[in-house]
Amino acid sequence: MDTDLSLAGLATGLRERSFSSVELTAALLAQIAERNPQLNAFITVTADEALQQAAAADAALAGGASSALCGIPLAYKDIFCTRGVRTTCGSRMLEEFIAPYDATATARLAAAGAVMLGKTNMDEFAMGSSNENSHFGAVANPWDDTRVPGGSSGGSACAVAAGLAPAALGTDTGGSIRQPAAFCGVSGLKPTYGRVSRYGMVAFASSLDQAGVFARSAADIATVLPHMAGFDPLDSTSSEHEDPWLDACTTQPLGTARSGRIGLPKQYFRDLGVTEASLQSACRVLEASGFELVDVSLPHVDAAIPCYYIIAGAEASTNLSRYDGVRFGHRCDNPQSLEDLYRRSRSEGFGAEVKRRILTGTYALSVGYYDAYYLKAQKIRRLIQQDFLAAFADVDLIIAPTTPDIAFKRGDLVDDPVAMYQQDIYTIPASLAGLPAMSIPCGTHRGLPLGLQLIGPHFAEKRLLETAASFQQQTDWHQQRPGQNPQAADSGSET
Ligand code: GLN
Repeated sequence: MDTDLSLAGLATGLRERSFSSVELTAALLAQIAERNPQLNAFITVTADEALQQAAAADAALAGGASSALCGIPLAYKDIFCTRGVRTTCGSRMLEEFIAPYDATATARLAAAGAVMLGKTNMDEFAMGSSNENSHFGAVANPWDDTRVPGGSSGGSACAVAAGLAPAALGTDTGGSIRQPAAFCGVSGLKPTYGRVSRYGMVAFASSLDQAGVFARSAADIATVLPHMAGFDPLDSTSSEHEDPWLDACTTQPLGTARSGRIGLPKQYFRDLGVTEASLQSACRVLEASGFELVDVSLPHVDAAIPCYYIIAGAEASTNLSRYDGVRFGHRCDNPQSLEDLYRRSRSEGFGAEVKRRILTGTYALSVGYYDAYYLKAQKIRRLIQQDFLAAFADVDLIIAPTTPDIAFKRGDLVDDPVAMYQQDIYTIPASLAGLPAMSIPCGTHRGLPLGLQLIGPHFAEKRLLETAASFQQQTDWHQQRPGQNPQAADSGSET
């Protein structure tokens, strides 16, 4: 059967009984069984549970269930707690951890009838930009298996790009949905901070973490998002912002935006490198669709990376203090004392990058350095937020590249953490400002995908998705699949 359909196409097929959810799920599980040994996109495949959930969805559909997600198989980043199913967060620390409860985001999707295919690979505790920091091994980019899929939600991006799942959940703290979406040629949305509950999502940097969606198109993302978003009394930072559009999205197809002012930050458009041709042609497509492009300035974005790595590290160092070998997670053998238990459990359970973040984060919070690092980073964060708010007084959206380049080769940056951190140069500013942002395919360079980033004001997901949908009506970059057309001319290049 053809599993390469849009979510709307799959929902129609299920409703018209062209295929059942059990057939669809079994077809995807067969593809996962075939491809996962090479791609390593899934840490855990929940085949039996998936087929049971699919059978229940088929019964619900026969009874007239109306949810657009009923019977649709999805993949979840292994950062979402799933009751009774191992939740590793890519770490040895949680290798044996069976979550005793469900994350709100995945519980809501299950309530809408979605089927869980399994838990996807990721950088340990979501720290990384290449998925090479996973205790469960690196993930291949389906376009070229010598390259990284991006990170930290590399497994989810890979699964969607390779056709192993029609959509997948990820999380984005500094770019972990947008960057892998760009590297794998799929669409990915990081919603406004607080739009989706963080309850049951393993915490990395709590003032930045946000759950979001990978899919093949903006329309497909709009099908999933409303079923997981919204206020949750179990997460005090989840927003009570009401959005009738989100509710309407569960029953109506996504519209398209055809007008508005789009800002081009001059700090980003100075030196676009290999993304230049694709970005420029994307700008022309947007102009031809009726958007007006204007220059904007984000004067403090140059400070975003150091600012982020201080704040995210500081928050990680406190969040990860709960892994003490006592209550849950890895415990060393034969501890000689409490100190020994802590020391060895943590030394053995955490990988090198996680230790680096805990050390730098603890340093930034320590007496004598707090003002110089943490407090200063918070002030810079505010300036960056204000830059965006000032820009949004003049424009409806901002566009930027998602990444500085195409997916890099596996192994190329593992020994150079600072070069790895630089990968997030375009994604981190929106994270610091809590803004919704997405990446959509906008071209290729040397046959590998590139992403266009759309950043909106707080709670402007509708505008982002409708603009992306308009772009996707005019272009077919999101329709390209790895391996389908390797000789195709690069995009955007028009040369
Ligand atoms: N790559 C960034 C980091 O390593 C962002 C990670 C993320 O968004 N989870 O922190």
